[in-house]
Amino acid sequence: MSQFHPTKNLKNSAVIAYLAALDHLKLVAPEIADQIVAELQDQRRSLKLIASENYSSLSVQLAMGNLLTDKYCEGYPYHRFYAGCEHVDAIEQRAADLAKQLFSADHAYVQPHSGADANLVALWSILIQRVQQPGIEKLSKKNLDELSVDEYEQLRQLLNRQTLLGLSLHSGGHLTHGYRHNVSAKMLRAVSYDVDPKTQLLDYGRIAEIARKEKPLILLAGYSAYPRLIDFAKMREIADEVGAVLMVDMAHFSGLVAGGVFKGVHHPIEYAHIVTSTTHKTLRGPRGGMVLCKNEFADAVNKGCPLILGGPLPHVIAAKAICFQEALASDFKDYAARIVKNSQALAEGLMKRGLKVVTNGTDNHLVLLDLTELPLTGRQAELALREIGVTANRNMVPFDTKGPWYTAGVRLGTAALTTRGMGPDQMDHIAHIIHTVIRNLKPATIEERGKLSLARYILDEAIAIRARSMVSELLEHYPLYPELKIEER
Ligand code: PLP
Repeated sequence: MSQFHPTKNLKNSAVIAYLAALDHLKLVAPEIADQIVAELQDQRRSLKLIASENYSSLSVQLAMGNLLTDKYCEGYPYHRFYAGCEHVDAIEQRAADLAKQLFSADHAYVQPHSGADANLVALWSILIQRVQQPGIEKLSKKNLDELSVDEYEQLRQLLNRQTLLGLSLHSGGHLTHGYRHNVSAKMLRAVSYDVDPKTQLLDYGRIAEIARKEKPLILLAGYSAYPRLIDFAKMREIADEVGAVLMVDMAHFSGLVAGGVFKGVHHPIEYAHIVTSTTHKTLRGPRGGMVLCKNEFADAVNKGCPLILGGPLPHVIAAKAICFQEALASDFKDYAARIVKNSQALAEGLMKRGLKVVTNGTDNHLVLLDLTELPLTGRQAELALREIGVTANRNMVPFDTKGPWYTAGVRLGTAALTTRGMGPDQMDHIAHIIHTVIRNLKPATIEERGKLSLARYILDEAIAIRARSMVSELLEHYPLYPELKIEER
């Protein structure tokens, strides 16, 4: 008997397929099916303000649930190390063509399983393409195979000495941009630039100074937590002056590029040699990564396997094709513009109530709440917000002294709630809810140590109940996947 799909939904094929899949899972693995449904209900009941998340379409999700997952296809379209790849060739080529069209890129490689993988593929492709070993014209497969063990070791050390210049973690850079605990800083000599301590903005003069001194092979622009635009023309000028390759990681803002919000010098494709992205944040596709590049790097990037990756995930590549198709539709432009309007309304709402946000505003999908002047950590704020139904994550703010675990900030993003249909008025109301919680939040004292906790907190129960009910009332008007009529439990 059907668990999930009542007959009234039978008109909609995506709904039927989705509910039938859940029905089936309920029969074969009820523990898993129950958790999927519990996750859906949790997401329905919370305000998702995680800046790196979104709600993908049922089409994107359905494209991943099929036999493509069984197929091995190492290589790239029409050049595989496996037999029987005709159909995955067509799928991958279609996804790559759509990505090229969407971003006006010369070349697209859609295999990376994640943003971190895409960055590794890009970094190594640059090394292979640009590092000159004395006596070796180019790092071709033949040349590499012919090196003696000693020559290969010399080459390895030469690659290892190359410099990567990226945005520091506390200024909003990502772990893969040269953070010491990430492989990017272990395989290269990693140097970082910070935002300006006063304005909290990128300082291109200062970046140029560091670049002149450090002579990076790779200048990396892009962020996980920087709320402003980047001038990619200026970054390219700096790269050209010092002979560096400009790599841009647009993992967070690729949806704003695709949707035409970031234009001119803020559109990275024209200026960067190589651009990486995730497909699941503002772009609203499946979890995954991709690399876009100028033709110079196309051959190196296509060899992401065996360089970094194992077998591609054709089922996810199919879902990426659906995502690119959706982002090419005209309503995606409107969606992207609304994301930014919403984050600006959220930032305004927080600031007018007396909370501080990094750079006093935002130009993109994210707002960084700065708690440095309050006796609170990001961890406490994150936990208290979650208690009342707001899901957001703690994040370092520039020159954060509390470290990446506790942090002095909270990162808020509007891509998901914009998908849910909310607008600036709802953002203002959410700012009110967040302010109500933060204003009433206190660190708990750890009795045994007589010290204030960095994680535990005190929030008056009546306030928590009131905030929780404001969240529920708001969510009632913006149902998530309303076509999936799965009863609340
Ligand atoms: N690059 C940036 C700028 C990111 O923010 C992230 C993830 O948050 C990544 C790369 C890594 O993406 P993934 O988690 O898919 O590996």
